Parts: sequence; C-alpha cells; structure tokens
Amino acid sequence: MVGGGHNALVAATYLARAGRSVLVLERLDHVGGAAVSASPFPGVRLSRYSYLVSLLPDQIVSDLGLRLTLRNRAVSSYTPVVRDGRHTGLLVGGSATEDSFRSLTGSDAEYQRWQEFYGSIARMAEVVASTLLSPLPSREVLRGLVADAAGANAWRWVFDQPLAQTLEEVFTDDVVRGVVATDGLIGTHTSLASPDLMANRCFLYHVIGNGTGDWRVPVGGMGAVTAELARVARESGVRVVTSAEVTAVSADGTTAEVGYRHDDVEHTVAARYVLSGVAPSVLDRLLGRPPRDTASGAQLKVNVLLDRLPRLRSGVPAADAFAGTFHLDESYSDLETAYRESAAGDLPLRPPGEMYCHTLTDRSIVDSPDGHTLTLFGLHTPTGLFADPRARDELVARYFAGLNRYLLDPIESCLTHVDGHPCLEVRTPLDLEAELAMPSGNIFHGALTWPYSSTPDWGVATDIANVLVCASSAQRGGGVSGIAGHNAAMSLLGSDR
Ligand SMILES: Cc1cc2nc3c(=O)[nH]c(=O)nc-3n(C[C@H](O)[C@H](O)[C@H](O)COP(=O)(O)OP(=O)(O)OC[C@H]3O[C@@H](n4cnc5c(N)ncnc54)[C@H](O)[C@@H]3O)c2cc1C
Repeated sequence: MVGGGHNALVAATYLARAGRSVLVLERLDHVGGAAVSASPFPGVRLSRYSYLVSLLPDQIVSDLGLRLTLRNRAVSSYTPVVRDGRHTGLLVGGSATEDSFRSLTGSDAEYQRWQEFYGSIARMAEVVASTLLSPLPSREVLRGLVADAAGANAWRWVFDQPLAQTLEEVFTDDVVRGVVATDGLIGTHTSLASPDLMANRCFLYHVIGNGTGDWRVPVGGMGAVTAELARVARESGVRVVTSAEVTAVSADGTTAEVGYRHDDVEHTVAARYVLSGVAPSVLDRLLGRPPRDTASGAQLKVNVLLDRLPRLRSGVPAADAFAGTFHLDESYSDLETAYRESAAGDLPLRPPGEMYCHTLTDRSIVDSPDGHTLTLFGLHTPTGLFADPRARDELVARYFAGLNRYLLDPIESCLTHVDGHPCLEVRTPLDLEAELAMPSGNIFHGALTWPYSSTPDWGVATDIANVLVCASSAQRGGGVSGIAGHNAAMSLLGSDR
C-alpha cells in the first residue's frame, strides 16, 4: 500500500480481514493524509485540513466496526447579506428556514422552488449512493435509476447541463443560487457555466453522501476518524510503517517491487499487488513516468482560535449564524466574478468562502470553556496566485475585511493571542502539495469523475493489472469516504480468487 491516507487504511483492513498480508508505507510520521487533527494552538485539537464527514458510507463504518460519533449541526447554513442598505441574511435549517426565505426574497415562491429542487436531489442521492460500493453502473443504467426515482429533471440538472443553467432555470435569487452553487466549487477551480461540467461532478458528490448529503461533524475532529481506521487496521493484522517514503514502484502485471526509505535506509519489498493511495502524478513519478498534469486546487484553509464569537450586524445570534456553513460573499454573481478574476491571475477583490465553527457542535476539541475554533475554506484561490509570496497575507486580509462587513465586532478583536501572536494558521494549495504530496494542492488528487462507466469495473484500475488505485482519484473516490479503499479491496479480491 503506497501511502497511509484514510482510503489506504480502509483498503488495508478489508484485505487483511480477507487473509491477505498487507504492508502500508506512509512517508509522514503519522497516517491519515488530509484526514487528521493537529494542535497548532495550545489546548486545541482541530481538524487541520478536512473537517466534515458525509461521504463515508454507513456500510463501511459497520463492516469495519468503527467507533465514531458523527454529529448533525443545528443549522445547515447562514448567508449574511446587505440588501437595500439593510443587514439581513438567509438561515437554512429547522423551522426558521421558510420565514428566512420570505424575509430575504419577499415571497414564498423561492422557498417552494428550493423544497422541490432538494426533494428531487434527495431522491437522486438515495439511488446514486446505493451504487457507490458496487462495480460501476453504465450511464444508461444510472440515468434510468435516477429518472425513475427523482424524475428526468434531476438527471438533466446534475448530469447533463452546466450547473449555471440549472441554477438560472430553477432559482431567481442571486444569494439562493449561490448557496446551491457552492457545493459545485469546493476545491474545484471552474466556472459554474463551464461545459466540461466539472462543477456538476463536484456538486454531485456534495449532495449524495449516505443518500442524504448531510455533512456531519466528527466528534474529536478528523483525527478521531483516522485513529479508528488505524486501530481496526492494526487489529486486523495490517503492518503500518510510518516515516517510510516510497521512492519507486515496478510492476509487470503479475509481480511487483516497491522501494522505500525508512530510517535513512533504502528497502525493497516484493508484492503480488501494489495499491496506490497517492495522487496519480505521484504514482507516475514512482513508476518512472513523466507526471501527468493535475487540475489546480483552489482553496485557502484558515484555522483560527477565538476568545468569543463576533456579533453580527444582522442581529442573528452568532451561535446560529456560525453553527452550520457560514457563506461569505458566495452569491452566484460573487462566485462567477471571483472565478473570472482568479482565472485571469488576479486575487479576487471579494474572495468567496465558507466558515465553520466546529466547537458549536463539538466542545471536545478545545480545552477552554469559552474558546471557539473558526475555519475558513476559501474558494477560487488557485495555485498560480501564490507565485507572489505576498498573496497569502493579502488574501487573509481580504477575507477578514469581507467578514468584517457583516460583523459588529471585527474578527481581529475576537482572536485568541498566545505570547502576543494571534492563533491563526493558513494553508495554501502550495502548502498542501508540500505537506501532503497533493499535486497542485488538489484536495481530490484531480478533477472528480462521474459515478458511471462503459465497463462494469470498480473504477480503480490502472494500465498495469496488479497496480490499483485506492485513493481520492479513483472513480467515486473524492473526499473522506473510504469508498476508493473499499472498492480497490473488492476489485483485488474479486480478480484474485
Ligand atoms: C483543506 C482540505 C479540506 C478538506 N475538507 C474536506 C471535508 O471537510 N470533507 C471531506 O470529505 N473531504 C475533505 N477534503 C478532501 C479529503 O481530505 C481528501 O479527499 C481525502 O483526504 C483523500 O484521502 P486519501 O486517503 O485518498 O488521500 P490523502 O489523504 O491525500 O492521503 C495520501 C497519503 O499518501 C502519503 N504519501 C504521498 N506520497 C507518498 C510516498 N511517496 N510514499 C509514502 N506515502 C506517501 C501522504 O503523505 C498521505 O498521507 C479536504 C481536503 C483538504 C486538503
């Protein structure tokens, strides 16, 4: 197993339990890849990179016997808005949703459209989710399943036409369109109108998790998820070696050899199969091939610790506004403007992003009784922008200025300080490449792919028969899901009886 990300741990456990001898080689001194917790500030254990769980199927949790608590958030999202010079916003989640739509849009029509749209999406989600742990269906079969369950519109909206067209067909309000659109742009640098439908694929994977699309907070942070995966792997007999960087892979379809460096000593191990838990271009290099291009990642991750939550100008309590996803300058027009600016090589003037306060759902990650973590996941900040070393600080300043437009208390006044320094950590796509070997900082190891194929396989094959992909770049593999790991293990066990 090359790499010890969460997907590799899932694959390793299934294989070890099926009686295979499994070795996991991880270059860092810990497993988990982007699904880990860290303590950048005293008394805090936060999800350093990924933070919410949706795509991890209950079946994998139960097959592996993972002891996890995934907690629903009290609010789905809040979007602060200035309309006609008045501070207001859109609150989605619970009984306040309908009133919030009416007060923002002036009628009930947009809310009814929202209900109908997400009703169809939920029915689509159930059928697509039910196919993810099986060999890939054909496009025709999947289309039939979706159309039967959710109607032909659901298929067209998500699979056939650019997301921008869907948003303009279904919704009328710029802010409502933006709230829907953001699911198509997480970690994905594209226009919503792009004919390659990259945003549609990203949207799809953000709404189908476990058939509900609910994004839940892992209690104890992402580190708790990886700790459980590591526990079941070890208990199943998997041998995990950390600080072991794989330096070469050779395979002829039947046998394989993996070279790695551990404790400054070069090792070689022979294997029947190699499962790649790393990005495709990393595997290319290990195979001695020119690395393929990887679509740029596009997110800025900022984690801060606050003494208190800031009050909002709209009057909505901070404990409601920040309990779910806080959309910052993410209207449909904001998103497209920021895309155009960033694609032209400029820092977005009003960079869009979303914020999360995990401590409102899980207090176990912070020791102090009043402290709160706040995480920003910024959109449309591709790798190229960071060629200028000043870009990182300038973007953080623009995000803070954007947030402060909606706050009574400037965010800087709420930051916790230790030894005179604010508790703030920033990760650009370049940092992800350096720390996690995610090429171009792409959080999915590359552009996401459709969950169908003309060949009924598991979507984990490479051009070498005994090298399989057990990572994010497998078909249906993006996010913290373990799906790629499960499917690689099933593919191997199915072809090697
Ligand atoms: C900032 C950020 C926020 C995110 N937010 C979310 C979220 O909230 N929810 C969600 O579902 N997903 C989220 N994601 C995406 C998710 O984290 C990834 O899709 C997921 O981690 C992929 O898991 P993986 O096991 O396939 O690969 P990775 O997590 O990338 O793990 C690959 C492992 O391989 C190791 N490796 C690389 N090269 C070598 C080598 N030569 N030898 C040995 N080991 C090597 C790496 O060190 C790493 O440990 C986020 C990602 C990022 C970066």
